[in-house]
Amino acid sequence: MNIHEYQAKALLRSYGVPVSDGRVVLRAEEAKTAAGELDGPLWVVKAQIHAGGRGKGHFKEAGAGEKGGVRLAKSVEEAAELTQQMLGRTLVTHQTGPAGKQVNRIYIEDGSDIARELYLALLVDRSTSRISFVVSTEGGMDIEEVAAHTPEKILSFSVDPAAGIQGYHGRRVAFALGLEGKLVKQCVDLINKLYKLFVEKDAEMLEINPLIVTTDGDLKCLDAKMGFDSNSLYRQPEILSLRDETEEDPKELAASKFDLNYIALDGEIGCMVNGAGLAMATMDIIKLYGAEPANFLDVGGGATKEKVTEAFKIITSDPNVKGILVNIFGGIMRCDIIAEGVLAAVKEVGLQVPLVVRLEGTNVELGKEIIRNSGLNVIAGDNLSDAAQKIVKAVKG
Ligand code: GDP
Ligand code: MG
Repeated sequence: MNIHEYQAKALLRSYGVPVSDGRVVLRAEEAKTAAGELDGPLWVVKAQIHAGGRGKGHFKEAGAGEKGGVRLAKSVEEAAELTQQMLGRTLVTHQTGPAGKQVNRIYIEDGSDIARELYLALLVDRSTSRISFVVSTEGGMDIEEVAAHTPEKILSFSVDPAAGIQGYHGRRVAFALGLEGKLVKQCVDLINKLYKLFVEKDAEMLEINPLIVTTDGDLKCLDAKMGFDSNSLYRQPEILSLRDETEEDPKELAASKFDLNYIALDGEIGCMVNGAGLAMATMDIIKLYGAEPANFLDVGGGATKEKVTEAFKIITSDPNVKGILVNIFGGIMRCDIIAEGVLAAVKEVGLQVPLVVRLEGTNVELGKEIIRNSGLNVIAGDNLSDAAQKIVKAVKG
């Protein structure tokens, strides 16, 4: 689960990490008062969406200016004007995809004078099962670009969880970033606090880009992107309360409420499968026969009729779906129950596109018979390969 920059900064602040003073604004009318509470003489007006690259992004609508979702203002009035321009508009960045994301919240911040922009991130390195730091002198840039063209400018190391974070970790970062004097001490302090926050809140990712040295010679986190392990939210009520459901794919949100593992994709064939491995194999074979999956969907081993119906609703709510492939292995669940579930779902939500069903496992013959006798226009697949070819043919002709 991801959170907004202003929420991440509030967390950072609560751990004593240096960030600018700021106010979040939901309505344009609030902007002037909010900006007036900050010192100035520089304000930063920042669109809050769950995506990076806002500064270099652009708005879809006319009248929202050309210069992207992070803008500097020289007066309270200008900050209010920029807020008005951005609120409700759709910001497109290299991370949002062409559809962009609607800006529903604006963060107005006290502007900083920047001497240097640096890069700092913490993430869970799954290969070492440790928390890793990634740091670079090339702040404010896309770290992927830096990694591709000048990998020598990136330092990365992981922290042994048994020994925990130590002073030498911070000094190593400070050295890599070319920090001197009091900045070394600030850096050690920063690294300690970030690590503590990361562990205590079950974070998965924390990216500070840029981490800056101000013209006054202090370290400060100017941007913060933060994500958390969804499996730990049950014990992180404070983090869970920061969830902004409007930032999430509505289909993925609905799926999570019914405990379905669903990921929206760009293709035309909706998939309903049980088991993650089978779901991946199904996506592969759809591609093999020349089409693209519209989603990954694992309804789970013990899928009930209700779950199957919900899964169907989610798949059919995607306008890109031109055909559906149901591929279920009846191990824990019997095929006849699954067949009934599929038919009940089809009857409830209607079927505007071709549907191929492939069943295998316990009571498979009974399951197939139920489908055959349903009177509905459902195509039976004999095996995975046959089913994939049939749905691709039905969709592509
Ligand atoms: P992103 O584009 O989504 O990564 O948003 P950022 O918060 O990183 O802002 C983009 C850029 O705006 C930063 O890299 C800075 O160069 C600039 N910026 C952000 N805040 C300030 C500020 O307080 N003062 C100045 N001078 N520039 C800022
Ligand atoms: Mg940034």
